[in-house]
Amino acid sequence: MMDQIVQHLKSSGHVFIATHVEPDGDAIGSLLALGLAFESRGIKVTMYNESPIPAVYRFLSSVNRIVHDAAVVIDCDTAIILDCGNIHRIGRVAEKVSQIPFVINIDHHITNNGFGQLKYVDTSACATAEIIYRLIKLMDVTITGEMAASIYTGIMTDTSSFRFSNTNQAAFSICEEMIALGVKPNDIAKRVYGTYSLGRIKLLNLALDSIEISANGKLSMMTLTREMMDETETSSEDTDGLINYARNIEGVEVAVLIQENQNGYKKIRGSKRSTINVSLRSDGAVDVSRIAASFGGGGHISAAGFTANADTTLLGIKKKILGLAEQLWPR
Ligand code: AMP
Ligand code: MN
Ligand code: MN
Repeated sequence: MMDQIVQHLKSSGHVFIATHVEPDGDAIGSLLALGLAFESRGIKVTMYNESPIPAVYRFLSSVNRIVHDAAVVIDCDTAIILDCGNIHRIGRVAEKVSQIPFVINIDHHITNNGFGQLKYVDTSACATAEIIYRLIKLMDVTITGEMAASIYTGIMTDTSSFRFSNTNQAAFSICEEMIALGVKPNDIAKRVYGTYSLGRIKLLNLALDSIEISANGKLSMMTLTREMMDETETSSEDTDGLINYARNIEGVEVAVLIQENQNGYKKIRGSKRSTINVSLRSDGAVDVSRIAASFGGGGHISAAGFTANADTTLLGIKKKILGLAEQLWPR
């Protein structure tokens, strides 16, 4: 499979590489590492993401190369979609990108729907960056300092610093090699986790206060409203990791973060309503990717998410989530 992908790339004229909206460290790290690797082999690339790049990842200087304007799609003959369970995760350009003659799907989500003409989906990979590393090796690319930092960032963030259940031997062996190539673990950890805006700390306060626990104590729910975000002058990039506070509560098996989307308005029956993003985490006992998939989303066994139907209210979704506790652990 990997050979076929490398073979195809040799004959590509212009490759479009995209990752999911609201990108995390794996999405950005994989995008940059692959884009830079292709360029080093003389392949013309366009790196794309619909959303702004969160401030904590801007230390990877090539993020400036990531474009947010989809106009370029037109003259690309190959698209590579990274870290996306389905092509719609790249956002509004999904339709246009689907028309590119050749679409390659590289991912590690258990809910991946197998889109694309060629796919390399490995659910045992700790991060998409692990698969990108293998691909780069196969292409005989000399890994530069920035590629190494990008791969390291992808693996560090998707494993939550080598703590989550997707942490495998490759996570350590690849990161060790990246360190040999010049990556300073302490530098990257400081960049990604080291500093918080004051707004985030204030938001954390509100978020902790919003936590509700199901009657059986096994499900925790945290809610972030638009008002909370406005009041603390925060954006979606400040909410990364907040769900872990709900997840780490003693006795909790499933944690849910319900977040009103700041930008994503949908007009419903004449009134503007914000869409709602839901994140799910589990300690491994419950497969939250299946729950997310039942709501049209996806993810991994212990980390998943979905975007609620636009006509769902915050209260409605909270009710559904609490009802979930009854379904998961019937009395
Ligand atoms: P998050 O809670 O946003 O950190 O996402 C956790 C996991 O769920 C990630 O692997 C995401 O790719 C996946 N995920 C989150 N939101 C969605 C969605 N709307 N559709 C499909 N997968 C999602
Ligand atoms: Mn991701
Ligand atoms: Mn990932």
